[in-house]
Amino acid sequence: MQLTNRSKQVSFKEMTVAEKIYFPAIVKGMAVTFSHLFKKRPTIMYPEQKREYAAVYRGQHVLKRDDNGAERCTSCGMCAVACPAEAITMESGERKKGEEHLYREEKYAKTYEINMLRCIFCGLCEEACPKEAIFLTDRIVDAEYERDTFIYGKDKLVEKMDKRIDVTKRQTPEVLAFKKIPGLKHNELYTGKLEKGKH
Ligand code: SF4
Ligand code: SF4
Repeated sequence: MQLTNRSKQVSFKEMTVAEKIYFPAIVKGMAVTFSHLFKKRPTIMYPEQKREYAAVYRGQHVLKRDDNGAERCTSCGMCAVACPAEAITMESGERKKGEEHLYREEKYAKTYEINMLRCIFCGLCEEACPKEAIFLTDRIVDAEYERDTFIYGKDKLVEKMDKRIDVTKRQTPEVLAFKKIPGLKHNELYTGKLEKGKH
């Protein structure tokens, strides 16, 4: 039974003189090659030139700070549980008196590491985070020579105060509208007090 129509009959007919000297075939091939000289090159000369990424491109993660500069992560572990690649590990610490400006919650991530060699940039950690602490950004993970250097700790993940990273493009209009509701701190749990139709 014939499953496809891709099979071809092999021809055993005698080659013509032109086919025997290969010249016409070479000219035809060169014509195809030269025609590409006048076409727009698809090559991007990275890093001098960069492609524009989609707004929801998933690159290197950032651990966000709140508006006052305190780390949002409360070391709940939801991102690590959601991660299909088991790329996230962390160690919790308890916030001490006087450290309120550093950590937003009483419990915080003393260490937080992502193994970038394991990560598949699926974004599930971002989805799972209840504190809006972790986001994927349009930054590209640097090329390295040593495997150890792909373990990114807080030094590389927590956003710098003087280089804040805008992640609003990654948030849906619904989430942004939710955050604009007066009196609602987006870090608080939704208690059902909001009026229907306003969110
Ligand atoms: S993007 Fe996906 S694979 Fe990477 S750390 Fe987050 S959950 Fe894990
Ligand atoms: S990044 Fe978010 S989900 Fe992960 S431990 Fe911190 S608060 Fe929890």
